[in-house]
Amino acid sequence: MKKQHLPEKQCIVCGRPFTWRKKWEKVWEEVKYCSDQCRMNKTKRAAHLRVAEAYLAGLAKGV
Ligand SMILES: [Zn+2]
Repeated sequence: MKKQHLPEKQCIVCGRPFTWRKKWEKVWEEVKYCSDQCRMNKTKRAAHLRVAEAYLAGLAKGV
């Protein structure tokens, strides 16, 4: 009997690897997060990042 190997991906938010799940069988190519929580964190983190970048840009200009 052949051992089934499930594909793995790395979550772009928490960086942890996660394994293929049945519920993702049609969207596996699109899946980037290990959980809904990480998907939401991504949005939050992106907002944080933009604020930090704006702040640093202000510092660079001497504002
Ligand atoms: Zn994650």
